[in-house]
Amino acid sequence: MTTASAPTNYQLMETRLQEKLDDGTTRCNLCLWRCKLKHGQRGFCQAHVNRYGTLYNLSYGILSAIDVGRIEDKPVRHYKPGSRVMSVGSYGCNFRCGGCHNLEISWGVTALDELARGQSTAAYVTPQQLVETAQRHGAEGIAFTYSEPAVWLEYVLDVSQLAKQVGLYTVYVSNSFVTDEALELMAPLVDVLCSDVKSLDDKFYHDICPTSSVKQVLGSIEKAHQLGIHVETRTNIIPGRNDNPAMLKEIACWIRDHLGADSPWHITRFFPAYKLSHVPETPAEIMWQTHDVASAVGLRNVYVYDDKGCDCAESNSPVSAYLNGNPESVHTVKKCAASCCGDEGIVLKKYEESSDSV
Ligand code: SF4
Ligand code: SF4
Repeated sequence: MTTASAPTNYQLMETRLQEKLDDGTTRCNLCLWRCKLKHGQRGFCQAHVNRYGTLYNLSYGILSAIDVGRIEDKPVRHYKPGSRVMSVGSYGCNFRCGGCHNLEISWGVTALDELARGQSTAAYVTPQQLVETAQRHGAEGIAFTYSEPAVWLEYVLDVSQLAKQVGLYTVYVSNSFVTDEALELMAPLVDVLCSDVKSLDDKFYHDICPTSSVKQVLGSIEKAHQLGIHVETRTNIIPGRNDNPAMLKEIACWIRDHLGADSPWHITRFFPAYKLSHVPETPAEIMWQTHDVASAVGLRNVYVYDDKGCDCAESNSPVSAYLNGNPESVHTVKKCAASCCGDEGIVLKKYEESSDSV
């Protein structure tokens, strides 16, 4: 069981979808930001950095959280129901939601800065070790969640390839602000996309990601469906933000028309967090009304979670508890193991000295 490219120790990994442009600039085509970066610059997600004209992922193999539980909690209901899945996340997201519950993980700004400085003590786990960990804990699949897997695609693909070889399924929990090219790479390897449909209002998306639009997100979800990935969608209803009944009905109609009347739609409750700490929890009535309206327009599998919000890692056991190793060995300082930068062995320290912006 091998992947061609997986290193045994932490190191920067070349970004899978990059275009090298003039003057050492690179464009990242993992997500729809399509960041154009010069030497020393990091993308919006902070997880990819241009070094001397090549783009690298900082977070390959770096884990922020692990948990093992029911696939229904992702939430995914129509793929391997009753099976247990190991959820894993890293650091980095291409959105900045005001109500995000996972800031330290999802935005991961501090953790990614530490990696960039060669000072991180986050766990490094090879794809093979991760698959073995899932098997050891009796999981039948691996879910990439907590952070945004679009900005961690190099690792997601390598893990998914190994998982497939040993009969484990994979789930990609995403905001779907992702390129067609990335979806095409994923399609042969990733089994399930559990995607947010946050709103059908462009302003809602602009507020969390100025370059995003409803059309782009829906386009990616539909593309994943057309590529044969099993797709389930989720809407977290936030009072006063995306709770307009007519719009919620439109989401139901869109799912029916583009993913099929049997396509599952998960309606989750908003719990106050971060910039939206003053916004109340979603009343159960709105959620159930939405369920009834969706059913009335012909959507047959609508699930309401009036006790559940996002897939948070707050109550997880420490990552080291799932790995074969004591916490000290898991959390040693991570310095890039690549030798391309000479004796220093800490490529980022060297590049930070010569770059003007990170
Ligand atoms: S993953 Fe997205 S946000 Fe991150 S560098 Fe690439 S295009 Fe930019
Ligand atoms: S809610 Fe999801 S998409 Fe939004 S910032 Fe948090 S992890 Fe990213």
